[in-house]
Amino acid sequence: MRTELVYLKDSYLKELDAEVVQIGDGVILDRTIFYAASGGQPSDFGKMVGSLTYEVKDVTKQEEIVHKTDLLPPVGEKLKLFIDWDRRYKLMKQHTSIHVVSSIAMREFGAMITGNQIYPEYSRIDFNFKDWNSDISRLLEKRVNEELLKNQDVSVLSMKREEILNMEGALKVDLRLLPPMDILRVVKIGDVDIQPDGGTHVKNTSEIGRIEIYKIENKGKNNKRMYFSIHR
Ligand SMILES: [Zn+2]
Repeated sequence: MRTELVYLKDSYLKELDAEVVQIGDGVILDRTIFYAASGGQPSDFGKMVGSLTYEVKDVTKQEEIVHKTDLLPPVGEKLKLFIDWDRRYKLMKQHTSIHVVSSIAMREFGAMITGNQIYPEYSRIDFNFKDWNSDISRLLEKRVNEELLKNQDVSVLSMKREEILNMEGALKVDLRLLPPMDILRVVKIGDVDIQPDGGTHVKNTSEIGRIEIYKIENKGKNNKRMYFSIHR
């Protein structure tokens, strides 16, 4: 991949200068702040301004990061990138929250996470609980909000694969699913959660407020799909 993923170092950058290095079914840049849909987090939207304004409607990640635009700029054009910050910041809050929900559900309520998806206004998680009962969602919501209210710092670390294997809570990490690098990006949320992750997160849980679990769908006796939203 030729594109430097600047959002991995600074999730709060809203603008960036970049240059077009290739045109295919979209725009490939030398560097970007646009997040490409992956790991349950949807892509950023926004615009790139050069000789024209190019609307970014989707960003995909295969061998390259491809910005899907309405018009195509020429190779070599210098662009100023602007992400839709309102949407991205909502996604960052949801992403950090979903880590806290997953971690508490696993550690304190014996759940396994089988899937998740983040949206700007809500997130959903699929769980397999060891032993489901109707009090769990209320208790889980309460415990998550206690942790969020502790104003826990969120930090991004670089760790070796074997360090990740040995760290506490590593059981939930399937190393086969991680990128094949020796050094991996790890997101740590205070003492609540630590895991390899390529997403964008807030700096402190105080930015989130509290979560509300507002819907549970039954997918079997112990399989539940939970939806939560975020409130100040
Ligand atoms: Zn994540």
